Amino acid sequence: MIATSVEPVQTYRYRAMGFTDDITSCDLCGRDELKGTVRLVLTDPDGDTDGDVYAGVVCAAKANGCTAKVIRAEAKRTEDLATTIHRTWAEAHSKAREGYREDTRTRLGLPRNAFDLALPREERWPAWQAVQARVSADEEYQAQMSAWEAEHPEPVEGRPVVRLPRGA
Ligand SMILES: [Zn+2]
Repeated sequence: MIATSVEPVQTYRYRAMGFTDDITSCDLCGRDELKGTVRLVLTDPDGDTDGDVYAGVVCAAKANGCTAKVIRAEAKRTEDLATTIHRTWAEAHSKAREGYREDTRTRLGLPRNAFDLALPREERWPAWQAVQARVSADEEYQAQMSAWEAEHPEPVEGRPVVRLPRGA
């Protein structure tokens, strides 16, 4: 039997990753001086992506055959999800870091916290900074952190955006 029906071809589509007001021209139509753009990634049927495209909401919607409202919602959803994933990673990173630092202070026989330094107030902080510096410089601690980071790479998406002042 010859198959006469054809499965609809899985096409490439743009996935809206979030908004930016740093890029104000549309890669799809060339219009500029937009208030901001939607960052899109071209995704193939296997979910593989190929580079970023920045587009105005209207063009982004047109490219995906949907409404601007759908694009806005998708961009917001993806952005929120990425932020949550990144925040979870940052918390785990900080927890691992604190744990290894604690272990290192114990191993090196250093005080556990600034208040364990029986020093006058004005000397306590610099002394604690010196303790922290010793922990940071410890090779075993550094190796533990590197191993943790190798196993748990920082998610690229969702990092807090650090904006430079204009003209910087
Ligand atoms: Zn456009």
